[in-house]
Amino acid sequence: MPAPRGLLSIFPHPDDESYGAGGLMALAAAAGNPVWVLCVTNGDQGGRPGEVGVDHSLDPDIRCRELTCACEALGVAEPIFLGYRDSGMEGWGAPEGSLALADPAEVVERMVEEIRRLRPAIIVTFDPGGIYGHPDHVKCSATATEAFRLAAAEPGGPIALYHQVMPRSRIAATRAAMEEERRRSGDTAPPSEDDLRQQEAFARLARPDEDITTTVAIGEVLDRKLAALACHDSQMRGRRWEDPEVRRGLEEMFGHETFVRVYPAPNPGDLEERPIGLEWGGR
Ligand SMILES: [Zn+2]
Repeated sequence: MPAPRGLLSIFPHPDDESYGAGGLMALAAAAGNPVWVLCVTNGDQGGRPGEVGVDHSLDPDIRCRELTCACEALGVAEPIFLGYRDSGMEGWGAPEGSLALADPAEVVERMVEEIRRLRPAIIVTFDPGGIYGHPDHVKCSATATEAFRLAAAEPGGPIALYHQVMPRSRIAATRAAMEEERRRSGDTAPPSEDDLRQQEAFARLARPDEDITTTVAIGEVLDRKLAALACHDSQMRGRRWEDPEVRRGLEEMFGHETFVRVYPAPNPGDLEERPIGLEWGGR
């Protein structure tokens, strides 16, 4: 059986892939590795959160189209959807058909089927806290991690699992850059309750820097990552990132992507600039 090849990223909503691992995916694709995005939900609760009594639902086709656009911008294969509905933020009440209400064993089994079909060498997903604790992020991490474990035990299965994480040392810089970018974009709306809860969880769930095994500098593909994020127009709250001043802040915020190599566990103190299991051809 031929060796597994390439990278499969498994994320819950359209846009999570671009924020978390868009640079790594673009670099891997540019180096000739097959790269796929498995999107677990259709993101249909991705409306602007916060206001009580507001209908958060979006036409799922909009977000699916946005992800297709993002995959093109990153230079990776067309997205694959598992088709669950977005569960919405905590306290919104998960709709019927949502990931939150799905049987975890069924989600895992469907992921394993995709892994068997695609035969990636490495899998990337959120870490257990899901960056800010969104119920879909947490469930995606748990089910994708279990799917990796099962598939890795099969002949020709994937050889490495990475969790995408936010290092503690970047919280302050990221928050400052986001504030600055909000100000420049003319977004004067005060943060909503959901925003505040999200910011609190973001700080609480960030990982100690010493946990991080893999820091990928993505400067050479930052334009691709920003183009991919721009595709997710329904989630951007009117942000425009072309302004050179804004862009400088973005380099601070997005210049590196950070991961924990979960399997195979590295030796203590071992640090990587690239995940194992991919072909880099000198890049
Ligand atoms: Zn998400």
